[in-house]
Amino acid sequence: MTGNRTFTMIKPDAVESGHIGPILEKITAAGFKIVAMKYTQLSRRDAETFYAIHKERPFFGELVEFMTRGPIVAAILEKDNAVEDYRALIGATNPEQAAEGTIRKLYATSVAENAVHGADSDENAAIEGAFHFSGREIF
Ligand code: GDP
Repeated sequence: MTGNRTFTMIKPDAVESGHIGPILEKITAAGFKIVAMKYTQLSRRDAETFYAIHKERPFFGELVEFMTRGPIVAAILEKDNAVEDYRALIGATNPEQAAEGTIRKLYATSVAENAVHGADSDENAAIEGAFHFSGREIF
């Protein structure tokens, strides 16, 4: 059975370029309900923990630098089949390969600065949501 929650971040590049509003509009227009949301900034330690799965990748240092350079919006989203449907809404990691109309096609500028994060499994959605939110911040 697939879960009904996913976790997202609007990354520093999209915040800097003023795209919080349009991205939230795309998310809600696609039928996702926002059940938790905060405007925050990752510390180096936060980013290293959040992206620990990538720590052996050659771009890990760049990824941590990027994700800590400014504020982000973190949110938990609810919808049937949330993880898969949200990955479809955001599009491929590399915006050049992202489908027309997807959030990354519209707002990402490179494979590194790709506007949004979307959890890739129900298990990771739960772990990532719990990383950012306590139970009393989820509605
Ligand atoms: P995602 O699940 O689509 O976000 O993609 P991945 O899990 O493969 O990568 C995590 C994040 O690392 C991406 O969203 C990018 O921000 C970043 N990233 C991926 N590939 C590269 C790369 O080649 N260079 C850099 N600098 N960052 C990358």
